[in-house]
Amino acid sequence: MLDPDFLLLVAGFWLVAGLAFEGVPCVRQWRHLAADTQSETPDAARRRVYGQRRALFQWLANLEGVLRVVFWLGLGLLAGLFDNLAVGGVVGVLGFVILFAVGDQLLREILPWARWWFIDRACGVSRSGPAEMASDSARRLALNTTIAALAGIWALWPFALLPFSMAWPLSGLLMICGMAALFWARPNLIDPLFHRFSPLECGELRERLEAMMQRCGTRLEDVLVVDSSRRSNLANAYFTGLGRQKRVVLFDTLIAHLSPAELEAVMAHELGHYRCGHLQRFYGSQALLLLGGYLALGALVAVAGVAVSPVVLAVAAYLLLPALGWPLKPWQSARKRRYEYEADDYAATHAERAALVSALERLLANNLNAPTMDRWYAAVFATHPPGDQRLQALRLKA
Ligand SMILES: [Zn+2]
Repeated sequence: MLDPDFLLLVAGFWLVAGLAFEGVPCVRQWRHLAADTQSETPDAARRRVYGQRRALFQWLANLEGVLRVVFWLGLGLLAGLFDNLAVGGVVGVLGFVILFAVGDQLLREILPWARWWFIDRACGVSRSGPAEMASDSARRLALNTTIAALAGIWALWPFALLPFSMAWPLSGLLMICGMAALFWARPNLIDPLFHRFSPLECGELRERLEAMMQRCGTRLEDVLVVDSSRRSNLANAYFTGLGRQKRVVLFDTLIAHLSPAELEAVMAHELGHYRCGHLQRFYGSQALLLLGGYLALGALVAVAGVAVSPVVLAVAAYLLLPALGWPLKPWQSARKRRYEYEADDYAATHAERAALVSALERLLANNLNAPTMDRWYAAVFATHPPGDQRLQALRLKA
């Protein structure tokens, strides 16, 4: 038998260890960027401040996860909320899930506002005002509460009908299926709530991109342009969706900044992610990991004989698993950086390598990315290789 208090102690120690583990690289990145401020141009100063504050907020995001665990679990608020509501049967359980979702989302709104105020607004990246931020917050709150209510109905019903040993794994499987549905819903239902998407206009650029797709042997449902310039000056592109819904989304800011040849190279990079199966591989392994963590938590609680309602435990798993999973971060970041190199290679073979290099250079400058990163910080957090290494890899293979 494991002592529940001992388990709590180990979990607390683990969370604090995570804060230290992520804190050290963030401090190193801060100092790495501060190294040369003597002969700094105003542009370089802005990039440094942007990079430093982003490093700080990387760590704050981890702290947020830990504080939410402390708030809901450490202070016993989650169990208290459940005890007060669960007497109402199914309606009570649903009320519990909804109240938790509202409360938790309100806590999670602090960081985006702080990020907007101290990073995006302060560094001149954001074009949103307080009204736009508030409207985004309200939409996130409504959306996440709806998702939580649906997830509650979908994944918690086994606890009402089956013994814990059967209900727990079944609820885990149902949650993974729910996540797959969310993966489908994101480009189709959720993203359009926040941004306007329109097909890329006919013309030289569209013809050029279509010719490139044909060379790659890929047919997309459409190439979409998103009105990101309403919110920010940052430029980007991404690939999303699976099967017939797959699409490349170009920021309108990207189209404004890059030449047609550069856009073609960026588009080839995004297609590379699709052709190499990066999305499927990443989200597939993410789902397996989550399921593994969920099953392990259920087994641990059963062995320890912790007296907790399975509904509370399922919500606790949602809070705990991301916060406890910090040792996986370097591995996940390294995978994503490898994907970026693979997509770059793909783009360099199917479009002009020189255009990809110049597109990257422009994007790094426009998005205030410092060309170099602290080694430890890159190892833990960087989902894209540091700019200098990425450009060097492209030039070396030329
Ligand atoms: Zn990429």
